[in-house]
Amino acid sequence: MTKAMFLVLVVEDDAGIRGMLETLLGAQHYRVVAAENAARGVIEARNHRPDLVIVDLGLPDRDGLSLIRDIRRFAATPILVLSARTAEADKIAALDAGADDYVSKPFSTPELMARVRAALRRRVSSGERLPSLCFGPVRVDLAARTAHGPAGPLHLTPLEYRVLDCLARHAGMIVTQAELLREAWGAERAGDSRGLRTYVKMLRQKLEPDPRRPQYLITEPGVGYRLLPVDEDPGPSEPRG
Ligand code: CA
Repeated sequence: MTKAMFLVLVVEDDAGIRGMLETLLGAQHYRVVAAENAARGVIEARNHRPDLVIVDLGLPDRDGLSLIRDIRRFAATPILVLSARTAEADKIAALDAGADDYVSKPFSTPELMARVRAALRRRVSSGERLPSLCFGPVRVDLAARTAHGPAGPLHLTPLEYRVLDCLARHAGMIVTQAELLREAWGAERAGDSRGLRTYVKMLRQKLEPDPRRPQYLITEPGVGYRLLPVDEDPGPSEPRG
């Protein structure tokens, strides 16, 4: 799938930022539809069925959070929030409303574009077989539930695989503590963030080259975790002549 086939809906009332996003995304060969308020955003989301929606939270007609909830009623489209609100509570509220990722304003262009690619990658790969992931020399096959390090096979518990599955399905994006707990443990342990921290620490010890300085399994303070896009195992490589 080439980029030109991807359609991005931008819902942003600030004409300067809206224009800049249109230029940035257009330069990367994405198709762009823009809306200046939430009401228009819902209409464009229904009419165009975009592959990704970028939403500002401070919109003139109503809050971006309610727009996210509205879009979630009829579409599973990845939603990326771009907002000047930087408090942890605001990020959690947006992710809980159904957003997939959060970028704070002012934003760095390369970071925003990386998040856009991650969101679209997730859309393309969702429903496909879970990949093998490489953490430096450690390789994890999520479908077969096997892991190998430089010293041989590694043992991951079923719960550790579930945590990793959940992060891998949202690779590159924030997964909230509540979401991870719900998916890995089920509703009855939904408040156990200390237990979650313990499991993340154990996963880092097994997977990270230097567990004290995680390169892959990143903490988003107060919000949750993010698995940075790891290299998917390309399989045995053939020497090229
Ligand atoms: Ca705004």
